[in-house]
Formats: sequence, C-alpha cells, structure tokens
Amino acid sequence: MNQQEFKFGTRAIHAGQEPDPTTGAIMTPIYQTSTYWQESPGKHKGYAYARGKNPTRSALENCLASLENAKYGLCFSSGMGATDAVVKLLKPGDEVITGNDLYGGTYRMFTKVFANYGIKFHFIDLSNPQNIIPYINANTKLLWVETPTNPTMQIVDIEACAKIAKTHQVTFAVDNTFASPYLQNPLDLGADIVMHSVTKYLGGHSDVIMGALLTSNDHLYERLAFIHNSCGATPGPMDSFLVLRGLKTLHLRMKAHCENGRQVATFLKNHPMIEKVYWPGFTDHPNHEIAKKQMRDFGGMISIVLKNADLHKTFDIASAFKVFTLAESLGGVESLINHPATMTHASIPKEEREKAGVVDNLLRLSVGVEDVEDILNDLKMVLG
Ligand SMILES: *Cc1c(COP(=O)(O)O)cnc(C)c1O
Repeated sequence: MNQQEFKFGTRAIHAGQEPDPTTGAIMTPIYQTSTYWQESPGKHKGYAYARGKNPTRSALENCLASLENAKYGLCFSSGMGATDAVVKLLKPGDEVITGNDLYGGTYRMFTKVFANYGIKFHFIDLSNPQNIIPYINANTKLLWVETPTNPTMQIVDIEACAKIAKTHQVTFAVDNTFASPYLQNPLDLGADIVMHSVTKYLGGHSDVIMGALLTSNDHLYERLAFIHNSCGATPGPMDSFLVLRGLKTLHLRMKAHCENGRQVATFLKNHPMIEKVYWPGFTDHPNHEIAKKQMRDFGGMISIVLKNADLHKTFDIASAFKVFTLAESLGGVESLINHPATMTHASIPKEEREKAGVVDNLLRLSVGVEDVEDILNDLKMVLG
C-alpha cells in the first residue's frame, strides 16, 4: 500500500507492506540473508546480493517514501551514512551552502572529511533565506538545510530556500530529523532530497542507528542508489524490521511528543531559573509564523539556557533528573537531556558554537511520551 489516498497514520502502519506471499505473515519477515538463489546467471527474483537490495529494507524504504510523499526511499546504516551519500554527488571544486547551526556530526563531516576532498562549505545564517544569494556562484551545487535546527530550534523557510535553489539550479536537501514527516514534508515545499536520522523519531525507541534519503527526482534517485550500493552504508534486515515496527506508532508518538512538549515549554518559559527557552511554538519565536506555515505542530524538542549557571552547576542540574536521562540522541519514547556544548556539539570549536548560541549553560531536552505529570514533577524537583 503506497497510495497517497490514505492518511498519514494508515500509511505509517501499512505503506510498503503486504502479507508475506509465502506464508501470509502479517509482519514483514526479517530476511536475514546476504545473497539469493539464481536459477541461471542473472536470472533471479529481483534480489541478487543484500547490499544492493533486501526485502525487509525495501518494505521500509517504501514506507518512508510514502510518509514523505516521495517516489523513492533509500535506507542507510546511519544518518551520517545518508548525508555522506548526498555529499558524494559532488566533485572537487563544488561548493555547498549550509546553516551555521548544524547537527555537530554533519559539521564535522563537512569540515573534517569532505573539505579535504576539495569541496567548499559556507556556513551561514539561514534565518533569512535571502542571505543565501551572495554566496551563490557557478560552483554552488548543494544547499543543505536543517529545520528546526539543533539545538537552538531556529526555523528555516523551506519554500523560500527551494525557490532560490531552483532559480540557481542548486540541489536542495533538507535534514528533516527534528520535525519527522509527521510534522513537515520538505519535498512538498520544493526540496529535492529529504534526509533523516531514522535513529531518532522514526525508529522512536532508541534501539537502532539508521538513516534515510527520500526523493521524487528520478535522476537524483539513480545517482544516490548507485552511491548507496557502491559505497555500501546499507542497514541490515533486523534493524529494518525494528524501524518498520517503530513506524507503526509514529503518528501516536508524535502527537504525544507535541502535547508534552507544549506543556514543558510553557512551564519552563515562566520559570525563574530559566533565562531562555527555545521552542518554535512560542509566538515570540523569531520565525514562529514560518514554523506555523510549514509545520503541523511544534514537536517535543526544547532547549533552555539556565540563569546564572556556570559549567559546574549546569552539569549538576543535567545529572539530577529521574525521568530525563542524561544521554546523547533524541526522539525516543523516553525523555532525554543533553549538554550540547560537551556532548552532541563538542566537535564544533567553542567560538563557532557560542556564535550559534550553544553556550555552556544551554541544555537540550527531548521530551518523551511518559505521563506529563511525571515529566513536569521531575523538572520541578530539579529546578525548584
Ligand atoms: C542524529 C542526527 C544526525 C545523525 O544521524 P545518526 O543516525 O546519528 O548518524 C543528523 N542530523 C540530525 C539533525 C541528527 O539529530
């Protein structure tokens, strides 16, 4: 079932999946095989070697494509593996324009790996897409955008970026990890490629590392599928099964993340220990109107700046919670707290980091789907 006539929750449960043709099994089997029988050389049932194709992974790729209103999906062994494949569309001398508030691992890959291959990256403030224009030249080949950004929840206007990218024939990719397809569909707003760290909301249970690329562009799909198989960052069938299972509750989980997030953000905004709360649902968020236009709700990711807290006090607070677990990552059913400056964003130089607002007293919350009273009581217990 890939028909876009069905609504989101129905597709999250069924898209890409049919009862197994040999047994009628309702759940897609875990095809734990590396290779497939060929009747005579080249004569097989569409599957030759599992790096290229695996039925469990194909079901997942089709499900994710359906959720992002895309024609094609490719799953990778991590979010970084997916991003890596997009940059491999480029060649030495090409230039990339991207935001100055990126996921730390993406920044690290761009500056420490691909810069060595002669690709040039411009990290700019994308809160106003017009800022892109002065950086465009004949070598500009990729615009890479994250929205909401990590961890300061900036909102980038996807539609406005898409118009600029199209005018200048620049491939436009959006890291949609924070929003998930439940909240935002960048391809519908003009993006060429959507990237996900499936590890986060899509998997949803903090038990899988995986990435994905979705596109409706035939040519881009062919090139990405070639890189996918050639470079080999492909996930195994067990992980694909776990994500298929996780996706079946994506719409229910996201609804709960958004509702709990709203209550936590409101509680924190009025708290005397908190200097600043980053959450796109507030009407005084600088790009709230754009968030309202391109997102269906505002999600469960919130960052806070503690008032008068040095690094030591910030660490004490980050470690004192009972419901929030101090850990990297986000988007799982359980609430997590993270100290970006020393954890997820440690690979960004201090000066760059602080320019983007990632100060030492900033904490990032991934609000889970536990009972909200327990989440709020946990915050009250620690913050007073
Ligand atoms: C986690 C994350 C990634 C990297 O994904 P992995 O699955 O950890 O490789 C990329 N972008 C964002 C926004 C992320 O949160």
